[in-house]
Amino acid sequence: MFDKILIANRGEISLRVIRACREMGIHSVAVHSTADSDAMHVRMADEAICIGPPSSTDSYLSIPAIISACEITGAQAIHPGYGFLSENANFVQIVEDHDLTFIGPTAEHIRVMGDKITAKETMKQLGVPCVPGSDGGVPDLETAKTVAAEVGFPVIIKATAGGGGRGMKLAETAEDLESAFFTARAEGKAAFGNDEVYIEKYLGRPRHIEIQVFGDGKGNAIHLGERDCSLQRRHQKVFEEAPGPAIDAETRAKIGKVCADAVAQINYIGAGTIEFLYEDGEFYFIEMNTRLQVEHPVTEAIFGVDLVREQIRVAAGLPMSFTQDELQINGHSIEVRINAEKLPNFSPCPGRITQYHAPGGLGVRMDSALYDGYSIPPYYDSLIGKLIVHGRDRPEALARLNRALGELIVDGVDTTIPLFNALLQEDDILKGDYNIHWLEKWLASHL
Ligand code: ADP
Repeated sequence: MFDKILIANRGEISLRVIRACREMGIHSVAVHSTADSDAMHVRMADEAICIGPPSSTDSYLSIPAIISACEITGAQAIHPGYGFLSENANFVQIVEDHDLTFIGPTAEHIRVMGDKITAKETMKQLGVPCVPGSDGGVPDLETAKTVAAEVGFPVIIKATAGGGGRGMKLAETAEDLESAFFTARAEGKAAFGNDEVYIEKYLGRPRHIEIQVFGDGKGNAIHLGERDCSLQRRHQKVFEEAPGPAIDAETRAKIGKVCADAVAQINYIGAGTIEFLYEDGEFYFIEMNTRLQVEHPVTEAIFGVDLVREQIRVAAGLPMSFTQDELQINGHSIEVRINAEKLPNFSPCPGRITQYHAPGGLGVRMDSALYDGYSIPPYYDSLIGKLIVHGRDRPEALARLNRALGELIVDGVDTTIPLFNALLQEDDILKGDYNIHWLEKWLASHL
């Protein structure tokens, strides 16, 4: 096992990894920008090292600075968290070239899954059902027209390098195709330096269902059921739950096995998420994330496992600490993302926290790096906390969420807390009756 792990991240996910390290008796090293000198992850880690100025490009994304920090502190492995360098194949290669261990999959798996076209081709070959659409990239408008006519409108044009909801454009009809095609290409180019796009059938009312998988890198893999992340704004998740209200045990076992078998076949190592759209009882693969997800705690809650601990174990060459048969679902869990954002436009709202009080009690987990007097810097993303509840069943989890939101105090900045209070008044939410468009429609008429 490692003696020392460096966490190449900040905020709540950095704390999440530090906590796992501490329970495993591993020393933790935090890295931080000059804007984060007072951040909680710096205080909580065993050691901290400044790696650059506020801009992420010069600090949390600076590969030389992070490698140097490992060498200075003697850290043997790097946990990337999510975002930043977590899905950067080049980074993984450099880490390995320095005889350090990357806690995550191989550079090759990251590369394949990071390009949505090669990801889809690979998944198709591995027997995973995909959204109907173009076979690979669509080089020009003429091809786009032919493919779209075959697939049938509406279609969605997606940048193969896209992420975070960027580089995706809907064409409702043939008239929209030209502008959707060129806009998706331009966005892909501007945001990711790659203008290759592909076409998919646009599904009208699917749910976003993702399967958590985990491999040991030696041909063994398991699944930990699904999360329903359909409640999204601008393709960004805000509320996630497990198990999915629309998925029964048989459906779960079937798609879970398809996913576990797929990643076993490629000797996948560590945590991964296979994302699907789910409509009329059918699953359609959209992408795979080769890292720990923001919403992993809902899976941890219902299975009673520590996914970060497992990531560290397999990275150190140890086996996973459970088998598929040992994994049983217990109850229901919901996570809501607390962002420092001002409604109704969700504009970022950095600033000083004058008072912070975290909820507690049975079945409540608050993952946050906030504290009284902390100043949220304006340079990074607006997620400031995740409130996760666990109950014996969905109604109990909802009641607990309502109760915990009532206890949570975040003063000094605007947050998304009022959104969740309002959502908990909605019949559809209480019944679990929603799809990927529900929240946008609701926001348009309520905010
Ligand atoms: P990103 O990498 O930017 O997160 P994804 O491919 O994971 O992009 O898609 C994000 C979201 O966009 C999905 O959860 C869904 O809401 C919507 N979406 C993606 N593909 C389709 C599709 N073919 N039809 C309808 N909605 C889609």
